[in-house]
Amino acid sequence: KKPQQQKKKIEGAALIGIDVAKEDDLGEWYQQVITKGQMISYYDVAGCYILEPSSYAIWENIKGWFDAKIKTLKVRNAYFPIFISADNLEREKEHVEGFAAEVAWVTKGGKSDLEKPVAVRPTSETAMYPYFARKIQSHRDLPLKLNQWNNVVRWEFKHPMPFIRSREFLWQEGHTAHLTQEAASEEVRQILTWYAGVYQDLLAVPVVQGVKTVNEKFPGADYTTTIEGFIPATGRGIQAATSHALGQHFSKMFNITVEDPTPKDGGKAEHIHVWQNSWGLTTRSIGVMILTHGDRRGLVIPPRVAEIQVVVIPVGVTAKMTPEAKDDLYKKVQGITDDLRSVGVRVETDSREGYSPGWKFNDWELKGIPLRIEFGPKDAEKGQVTTSRRDIDDKDQARGETKVDDLKEAIPKLLEQIQTDMFNKAKKAYDEHRVQLTNWDDFVPTLNGKNVVLVPHCEGEKCEDEVKAKSAKTALGDGVAEDKQAPAMGAKSLCIPFEQPEGGIKEGTKCINPDCTTPAKSWILFGRSY
Ligand code: AMP
Repeated sequence: KKPQQQKKKIEGAALIGIDVAKEDDLGEWYQQVITKGQMISYYDVAGCYILEPSSYAIWENIKGWFDAKIKTLKVRNAYFPIFISADNLEREKEHVEGFAAEVAWVTKGGKSDLEKPVAVRPTSETAMYPYFARKIQSHRDLPLKLNQWNNVVRWEFKHPMPFIRSREFLWQEGHTAHLTQEAASEEVRQILTWYAGVYQDLLAVPVVQGVKTVNEKFPGADYTTTIEGFIPATGRGIQAATSHALGQHFSKMFNITVEDPTPKDGGKAEHIHVWQNSWGLTTRSIGVMILTHGDRRGLVIPPRVAEIQVVVIPVGVTAKMTPEAKDDLYKKVQGITDDLRSVGVRVETDSREGYSPGWKFNDWELKGIPLRIEFGPKDAEKGQVTTSRRDIDDKDQARGETKVDDLKEAIPKLLEQIQTDMFNKAKKAYDEHRVQLTNWDDFVPTLNGKNVVLVPHCEGEKCEDEVKAKSAKTALGDGVAEDKQAPAMGAKSLCIPFEQPEGGIKEGTKCINPDCTTPAKSWILFGRSY
């Protein structure tokens, strides 16, 4: 079936599948891009979506990369049930309070009410830690490092958005227990570095690494480290992945202890509670990638995660050509494909009959395939192919030529170049829209300019709430009633970046909140967010 013809013309656009500009209506653009690009299909339970093979392939690439990394830390994969008993779910107070509003419960089996309803996991701390308590009997059982690749359910009432916020999503959740706080802290940061690797090195999406404020940390954690992304089209921040130091909160509630292997002064060994971490990265990452790179022609997928990296399309095949000449051309196209496959390039040939090359170009562009190779009689004469990069909007600049004999070396290099260029372009956009400021009067106008802001803040929880409330109010203007359909969004703290401007706050710097008298402690990234 041919892609849907455009309904209205976007200026400068060829005949394409996407009929709304990203800048004009991001929501509609996103919806068209993910459905026409065959990433997502809709489903009849609100907030749940079908991940089509093209997006699942990206998830598999992320999975392969990250799984190999955590295995170097001797993390082992396991699987725990999707259901959690009410008793266990409710054992850590702060945790259950944080998740209560989003937990889905099974209350019936067939027609009969369950005696005790069971929860569908929103995350698996409370499913796994009774097992940890049984498995960990001695310090020799430490560290215990488990991970699961699974699904979780959070019955969110915020506006759902495929990949970005769904009620069921795929993720990995790592859960580990350590003898010492130091060992646990080290792992928390190592995992965060790999999360940044998934986004930056695979998805070509820049992130800022930091720690969450107390207000925004994971319920039940000592502290939460995070990578924060940015969606340039809306100027909003997005929590990209989180790695939590749980401290001893859960080990105390679930009674996970070992005897101290080094008792003081040769005295009696004391029981010590283990130090725990949990860390998760979800299919949200695919959504951030799509929002970052997609353009007026549809998806743009970075080569390292693309299911198909290169498509080879025969061109210039005319009715006048002899069957031998046609045959010869198709053989050469096959040769090009085989050559690329032999060096590990994920390549497809599109020799579908009955579609013009132009139509095929649009079709593969919509799907975001990073590189197109065209090969026709004229190219054959010159012993070369014509290439066209998906990441460059300008047709002429996107084009190049490569000798057929050089393909095996040149194409993998070109794919890496595309990967690097995509990241650099996205990084430039994020860097330009992360604005450092110290004056409250600039706060909301800067947010309105589609930026996130880096401001001095006292780290106070109440003060942070005030900044959020005030920025929402200022955005509305005095005396304007809030529109329930489109609430003016206040800015929340995204993170305290590890990399602080000027090496940290200078003593005596005031908190950004004009009504706050506590001196600033750090530069905090604030923004409207997803
Ligand atoms: P958490 O266990 O709450 O720290 O969540 C781990 C990560 O999941 C967060 O850092 C988000 O990036 C992501 N996430 C949270 N809620 C959703 C959702 N509804 N859909 C997809 N991803 C989510």
